[in-house]
Amino acid sequence: MRLVTFEAEGTERLGAVVGDGGDGGTEERVIDLPLAAAALASTGRGPGVGELPSDMLSLLRAGDAGIDAARATLDAVAGESPDDARYSYALSAVRLRAPIGVPGKILCIGQNYRDHVLEQNGTMPERPIIFAKFANAVAGPDDEVIYPTTTRSLDYEAELVVVIGRGGKHIAREQAYEHVAGYMCGQDVTARDIQKGDGQWVRGKTQDTTAPMGPYLVTRDEVPDPQALDIRLWVNGELRQDSNTVNLIFDVPTLIAFISEGITLAPGDVIYTGTPPGVGAFRKPPAFLQVGDETSMEVQGLGRLTNRIVADSY
Ligand code: MN
Repeated sequence: MRLVTFEAEGTERLGAVVGDGGDGGTEERVIDLPLAAAALASTGRGPGVGELPSDMLSLLRAGDAGIDAARATLDAVAGESPDDARYSYALSAVRLRAPIGVPGKILCIGQNYRDHVLEQNGTMPERPIIFAKFANAVAGPDDEVIYPTTTRSLDYEAELVVVIGRGGKHIAREQAYEHVAGYMCGQDVTARDIQKGDGQWVRGKTQDTTAPMGPYLVTRDEVPDPQALDIRLWVNGELRQDSNTVNLIFDVPTLIAFISEGITLAPGDVIYTGTPPGVGAFRKPPAFLQVGDETSMEVQGLGRLTNRIVADSY
């Protein structure tokens, strides 16, 4: 499922995207899951589910039962009446938001691609390098990313983002995938001069809107191997990053086991798994973002995340 948080008629909703949108394919539509479940229940059709939670975080907290109810609802309406106006919207008629607007934790991994470490002439880390962003950094698909007044070297970083479903502590590597709800595209937009100049990374990494994510949370059943996905990023249409998650130094199960040794993971926590080579700082000459630039990134199967850089108008 491609789960989304979307805005329609002035309110924020929980939905899923159906249709392939391709040439000769079916129109992409957004199904409002709680409204669809209610419509099915009122006619005695469908999977017999009751109401679904009305937001993504509540759905994730409902665990496998929540995901199963969402899937049963979606299967019922997608087969029979995917365009019923009671719960269905054209994708182009709604605004997608960050799938998780306020993650409890935004955990990030530094230097986690072999090819990215090599471009810096660095040494391979012996254990994951963990840092964090705060919820002020969250931005959604097509949201503007603010160019901070604090930096002169704003950089892009395309990343695979893991979304935690079931929480836990001391999670064994072998059980790690059972704690994954799904995956998203995400960018770890970075103020390089602050990152280097401050002596640690927090301020350079969590300026407002510097953690765009989306457009979808793709459930883990649709991503059989997160270590085999093409990952690309373009600036104004020019390809800048082009790699594959096979180059991850620490894979998703290793990261979940390492983090949860001392940090209890909770539903809706997100993990930015690191960026491949091609970032602006290591290009010759360096090529940082400017106001007016458009970044666009894809992780294979997870959709495209596009954001424009704008001046801070606060
Ligand atoms: Mn990063």
